[in-house]
Amino acid sequence: MYFVGMQVSSLLDFFTALVFPHTCAGCGSNQLLNKNGICTACLWSLPLTGFLQIPDNDTDQIFKGRIRVEYSAAATYFLPQSTVQSILHALKYSYRKELGLQLGKWMGSQLADCTWANKIDCILPMPLHPLREAVRGYNQADLLSEGIHQQTGLPVEFNLLQRNTPTRSQTTQHRTERWQNMKDVFQVRQASKLENKHVLLIDDVVTTGATLEAMGQKILAIPGTRLSIYCFAYTLPH
Ligand SMILES: [Zn+2]
Repeated sequence: MYFVGMQVSSLLDFFTALVFPHTCAGCGSNQLLNKNGICTACLWSLPLTGFLQIPDNDTDQIFKGRIRVEYSAAATYFLPQSTVQSILHALKYSYRKELGLQLGKWMGSQLADCTWANKIDCILPMPLHPLREAVRGYNQADLLSEGIHQQTGLPVEFNLLQRNTPTRSQTTQHRTERWQNMKDVFQVRQASKLENKHVLLIDDVVTTGATLEAMGQKILAIPGTRLSIYCFAYTLPH
């Protein structure tokens, strides 16, 4: 998008920098190294799940019996009123691109240590509906994927997955009804590019797994594909 010859994203960058001082998205400290989004203390205090090293972990349990997933993991636990909640809120609503990239690199360094990282052929960010992406200024899963790519060297395909409809909140719907609503929300463009590939689907949070499942079904409909899932945070069941 362009406006009076200047890219809208640069304009946004400019005004955001005026409105939001460059502080840690976790604790508000201004002791930030380089262009990081969170400080070293917050990064080190993230509540790690260890799921990358644990077979049959809690994220595997979410997808069990619903969709065939080779490996799945989330790096941290999402707890209400926690640093992780502040970070995710800033990532979604405060135009903090540098935060997404930093978290992606951090996720990449965790992934590089696990036994199955070398089985992945390519990374795919979960898509946002284009309108939501325009409002937010970016897709946070794109930023996480870019960071993971920079850290691990795994290739990313940014534009193959597409979200066709924004869906309303699903918390009050029955699971079958939810699934009906989710079925046609996603599609894969240029599906042949993914044939016979083991893909790693990236998202910021996994809660019910409904959107990841719906996107995953579309991916697995492509001949020879295998699916793994990696998210920044895992929401504990209430
Ligand atoms: Zn901090």
